Amino acid sequence: MPSLSLASRVNRVTPSLTLAIAAKAKAMKADGLPVCSFSAGEPDFDTPNHIKAAAKLALDEGKTRYGPAAGEPALRQAIANKLRQDNNLCYGPENVIVTNGGKHSLYGLIMALIEAGDEVIIPSPYWVSYPEMVKLAGGTPVLLPTSPEQNYRITPNQLRQAITPKTKLLVLNSPSNPTGMVYSPEEIRALAAVVIEADIWVVSDEIYEKILYDGATHLSIGAVSAEAFDRTIISNGFAKGYSMTGWRVGYLAGPQELIQAVGTIQGHSTSNVCTFAQYGAIAALEGPQDCVTTMGRAFADRRQVILERCRQIPGFTCGTPEGAFYLYIDIEPLGISSLEFCTQLLIDKYVAAIPGIAFGTEGKIRLSYATSMEAILEGMDRLEAFVKQRFS
Ligand code: GLU
Repeated sequence: MPSLSLASRVNRVTPSLTLAIAAKAKAMKADGLPVCSFSAGEPDFDTPNHIKAAAKLALDEGKTRYGPAAGEPALRQAIANKLRQDNNLCYGPENVIVTNGGKHSLYGLIMALIEAGDEVIIPSPYWVSYPEMVKLAGGTPVLLPTSPEQNYRITPNQLRQAITPKTKLLVLNSPSNPTGMVYSPEEIRALAAVVIEADIWVVSDEIYEKILYDGATHLSIGAVSAEAFDRTIISNGFAKGYSMTGWRVGYLAGPQELIQAVGTIQGHSTSNVCTFAQYGAIAALEGPQDCVTTMGRAFADRRQVILERCRQIPGFTCGTPEGAFYLYIDIEPLGISSLEFCTQLLIDKYVAAIPGIAFGTEGKIRLSYATSMEAILEGMDRLEAFVKQRFS
């Protein structure tokens, strides 16, 4: 065997902790251990029946062959329609590429846009894969720290000060993973003004746009003005809103030239997304939307319960998330690293949580409540017992 000298890009990145912990929890469960998993943000609902039926029909109709690398024309059109209707964004199908999930859409964009010398501004805490993708592309992630006191929002001034001549892209994620924070329309407008003034690109990761609470609203930064639209790329997917995590269907929308560049990369890497899965995605967009509302209501009930339970645990502090399905909990008073806390919790109590360090912040843990109410109640009993036994 030749000596294994891996490409240096591999050493630039770390494995995804969200995937690693979720896989570990699933493996422990498969071994018969009574695991409660608050790890991956993966809705526990089955994919709605009409979406599955459309994919089954596509299979039966022989939609099992290669398709265009950028996606089935009917899906690109359905996505363009959705973006116009839901988000007030005026795209045609030529502005849309279908990707292997939301993660892959961000990866394609970053590969097409970012190279050595480019800076990418990422508010922190951030979703685990943003900085790693930038590093894989040879770019430099510039992290903008936020605090619970500022509700994990960056301010326009903070953004302005972070921009340098090398800044090429801002990554915006609202509703946010891991904090559940949602920027108000006014805040989005104020950030858009800075993006326009500095003439940089912004990628808006809108994967949680449909999961909102307490009357929070989602405004896409691209809908603020024509100038904002020209600088915006939308990343989205079907995993969270339609409970289609394993289907791997996402999309990117933006200026045609940029989308074509992402398509060129995709043509040499994955080719098209699974053809019959794309027909499920069309049904998701064009079929009844009450499944989204029903799942949203369940997330809202779970949020209420998990928040109340979390606030009873000594040493835990947590703001009220306005979107997505995560609690981002401050455990700093316990005086233990987030990784150590999550490791011990899994060993002692079979409860899986994600350490804040995965999202760039120490002294925090993330709990996903996209799991059943029974698992939440049981998991929170064990979490409370763990903290009381270990830290009082
Ligand atoms: N996005 C989800 C999460 O943060 C799924 C895992 C991943 O892709 O990182 O848990």
